[in-house]
Amino acid sequence: MIIAVDGPTASGKGTIARALAAHFGLPHLDTGLLYRAVGRQVALAGGNPDDPADALAACGFADSLLADPALRDEAVGGLASRVSVHAAVRAALLARQRSFAAQPGGAVLDGRDIGTVIAPDADAKLFVTASVAARALRRYLEMRARGEDVSRAAIESDLAARDARDRDRTLAPLRQAADAVLLDTSALPPAAAIAAAIALVERQRNTRVDT
Ligand code: C5P
Repeated sequence: MIIAVDGPTASGKGTIARALAAHFGLPHLDTGLLYRAVGRQVALAGGNPDDPADALAACGFADSLLADPALRDEAVGGLASRVSVHAAVRAALLARQRSFAAQPGGAVLDGRDIGTVIAPDADAKLFVTASVAARALRRYLEMRARGEDVSRAAIESDLAARDARDRDRTLAPLRQAADAVLLDTSALPPAAAIAAAIALVERQRNTRVDT
C-alpha cells in the first residue's frame, strides 16, 4: 500500500505521515528533507540556491547530511523551496523517491507532489492543510520551545512567501491531486488529526478494494 501525504509547511503532514507509517507498519520518507539537504548543501558550498547549476551540484550531498539537525531550521526550509523550483533538482531526486515508494509492501511518503508526480497511482492520498494563522502559531510555538527568539508576524510572512513559491512554480506545484482527500487540521489537536487521517486512509483503501 502506497500512501501519499501532501500539503504546505506546518500543516501537520509530517506528524500524520509518521503516525500512518507506524499504524500500517510501513516505512516513511519525508521528501522535504531531501530538498532541505540540497538547500543546506548549496549554502555549505557557498553556492547560489537560485542558480540551477549550483543547485544541481548540491544534489550529490552525502547521506549523513540527512541527519543534520540544522535541516529543520526555518532558513533551510526557505533554501529548500528555492532549489526545488529547478527542473534538474527535481529530476535528480525523482528516482530515489520513486524507488522508496515502490518497495515491496509499500510506503508512506510526504511532501508537495507525492500524489501528483511521485506516486500518482498511490492507494491512498491525503492533502493536509491548515490556515496560515494556525500553521504560523504551530511553528512559532515549536521555535520558542527550542529557545529561538522569533516574531509570529515574521513567521507568518515567511510561511506565506514559501506557500506562494511552492504553489506558483511551474514544475510540480503544491496542489491537491484530483483523487486526494482534504484534511484541514486548523482546529484539530494532533491526536484527532491522526485519527481522522487513519480513518480516511482506511476508507480509501476499502473503496479501492470494492471497485
Ligand atoms: O516539507 P518541507 O517544509 O520540509 O519542505 C521544504 C521545501 O521543499 C518545500 O517548501 C518545497 O519547496 C520543497 N519540497 C518540494 N517537493 C516535495 C517536498 C518538499 O518541492 N515533495
